[in-house]
Amino acid sequence: MLQETEGAGSDPWLPLAIPVSALPGVGPARRRQLEALGIQSVGDVLRHLPRRYDDFGQRTPLDQVRGPGTLTAVVRALGVHERRPRPGLHLLQMELTDGRGRLPAVWFNQPHIARRLADGTPVLVHGSVVVDRMGRLTLRAPEVEEVPAVGAEHGLRPVYPVGVGLTQRAIRGIVDGALQRYADLVPDVLPPGLRGRQALVDAAAAWRGVHRPRDAAELDAARRTLVYEELLLLQLGLQLRRRARAGALRTYRYRAAGGLQARLLAHLPFTLTAAQRRVLAEIEADFSSHRPMYRLVQGDVGSGKTVVAAAAMLRVVESGRQAALLAPTAILAEQHHATLGRLCDGLCRCALLTGATPRAERSRLLAELETGRIDILVGTHALLQPDVRFAALGLAVADEQHRFGVRQRDALCAKGDHPDVLVLTATPIPRTLAMTLYGDLDVSLIDELPPGRRPVRTYIRGPEARDRIYAFVRGEALAGRRAYVVCPLVDGGAAGPEQEEPTGLFAQADGSGATEGGDDETRAASAQEWAHRLKEWMPDVSVGLMHGRLPPAAKDEVMARFARGEIQVLVSTTVIEVGIDVPEASMIVVEDADRFGLSQLHQLRGRVGRGPHRSYCALVSRANPKRLRILTETADGFTIAEEDLRQRGPGELLGTRQHGLPELVLADPARDIDLLTRARDDAVALLRCDPDLERPEHNRLRVAVEAHFLRLRD
Ligand code: ADP
Ligand code: MG
Repeated sequence: MLQETEGAGSDPWLPLAIPVSALPGVGPARRRQLEALGIQSVGDVLRHLPRRYDDFGQRTPLDQVRGPGTLTAVVRALGVHERRPRPGLHLLQMELTDGRGRLPAVWFNQPHIARRLADGTPVLVHGSVVVDRMGRLTLRAPEVEEVPAVGAEHGLRPVYPVGVGLTQRAIRGIVDGALQRYADLVPDVLPPGLRGRQALVDAAAAWRGVHRPRDAAELDAARRTLVYEELLLLQLGLQLRRRARAGALRTYRYRAAGGLQARLLAHLPFTLTAAQRRVLAEIEADFSSHRPMYRLVQGDVGSGKTVVAAAAMLRVVESGRQAALLAPTAILAEQHHATLGRLCDGLCRCALLTGATPRAERSRLLAELETGRIDILVGTHALLQPDVRFAALGLAVADEQHRFGVRQRDALCAKGDHPDVLVLTATPIPRTLAMTLYGDLDVSLIDELPPGRRPVRTYIRGPEARDRIYAFVRGEALAGRRAYVVCPLVDGGAAGPEQEEPTGLFAQADGSGATEGGDDETRAASAQEWAHRLKEWMPDVSVGLMHGRLPPAAKDEVMARFARGEIQVLVSTTVIEVGIDVPEASMIVVEDADRFGLSQLHQLRGRVGRGPHRSYCALVSRANPKRLRILTETADGFTIAEEDLRQRGPGELLGTRQHGLPELVLADPARDIDLLTRARDDAVALLRCDPDLERPEHNRLRVAVEAHFLRLRD
């Protein structure tokens, strides 16, 4: 066999495993800021992709600015006004003109801007026009750049996820340095034949094009190349896995149905829907097959996936095995543990393991797990730790699969001898797409909601309606029901770039940082501020606060108090987006709803209308109420997801990961359906002629598949 230049088995990105400090302008402070974004090596810098592109080519004369939106213009300052309204906040206000019109602008904690504009030199500004508190149009914290020479104007400007302390300018400079010195070291893993056939560019051109596109066509070619590569690696990996598993035989048999599952179903306070029964039958068929189950259950929010999983787990327990239920957040794990405790009361022993489980309790629990005294273990990522050992794991369930990747699934499976696997998701991906994307899973659909559910009445309102909205919230609370108030940010502060939360590729897993807290956008509502305000507005109601930065134990405590009714109005970030089930909750208000994707709003709305009460959702919108209209028209997650995709513009091609599928960093499963199908077909063809990718021309590809799976984020 021919030898490649780099040793077989090494990551093709290895030549780029150079510390970032090798780049010009990266000293210890920058290094720490980059590290906070998960960037340690030059390779990481190159893989840190723009989350969108701003079009600087489109200039707007100021006398034509009629409403909120994005603006690029060449202007000079007429008057400069600086203030320090409170310690730690520097306000810079300017009147800008382009000779045709005028527009006020404001910056927070960026006093250096004053120096650049003070002498009246023309500059290029780019940012968001918003309506300020006085109702005037204002350019909010725009970027300021030198006016480019004629001919040197670049239309598409990348906007990167930046963490605390990093500016767009700084990160662009760092990326430029990496591109100039190292782009040619980026590995070309695609076999040459494939690249030609799919009209893709070479790797160095692709990475240059995606960071510094000269025009939309170059960006498109670059992006298609990277997306195709990502999808091909994923498809190859999934198919190799599927093949490895196809050889596995079930290591134990399920006892005849009866016993525990039957008792659970008999004691439910409701009857299963036809869809739930069908999916349970599909699972039962898997259980009686001689191969382990590997099944994805898709069902819209509120379709009742939990009880299906519980019934499946009891089949396993009644056959003498254990089951594990993996949840993405501590809150959700806690809730599942409580639900299962109720459903399975007297039927089996359930335990809970999270990062917050005290050490002594944890060791006791692990011992009981290993001797088989615990039947069902519910938990977070804490379940995946190496010292968590089961006596006999028969079934691994992952809830809200869109929060987990292949790696977590694998890690959980490794705790048993080819256990059955069930993953639950509310992410509305069309079935065919799911089958391609999760090439290795069978798909079941719960396409029916429990009877008697009344759709959540949804209203889109401007900020002026808040008095009425919160009067209604108070009324619900005083009548014994509960309400959520969701805000995009945890805390306020001045929203300069320094205050931006990590977004895009590196958003926090719990979603609290996952909104578009861009440096060029209006300051959004913060949970802390609203909790404070609402406490003042409704002193007779108990208002609580929840966000992703609270320690896990505090989160659980808040959630438990909300479930018990000790907290009546819960102000929160999107941590409550996933799966929380409090039947008394009858109202949800989303502040700055413009900041959320439609599918995300649909998920949030799914937190209410889960009990007998008529339920309401108020979306407070300042910018573009029309965009949200579909939410008032349908309750169908698939329809909403499609509209969501349709609305997202070409500026958001990369890195936003709104689909939330952890395997896909670049690809958007719906937008890139053609590339996805091709990658799947190419993967099948490749493996047919070279089943283990052993041929020399596939060596790099094989190594890249392995490295790709290792790199997928936990
Ligand atoms: P999701 O699919 O979003 O995870 P859950 O499993 O949390 O939904 O179920 C939502 C609510 O519906 C729960 O309160 C659950 O008890 C209830 N539920 C589930 N199945 C049914 C059913 N067949 N009839 C009535 N209520 C049901
Ligand atoms: Mg759920």
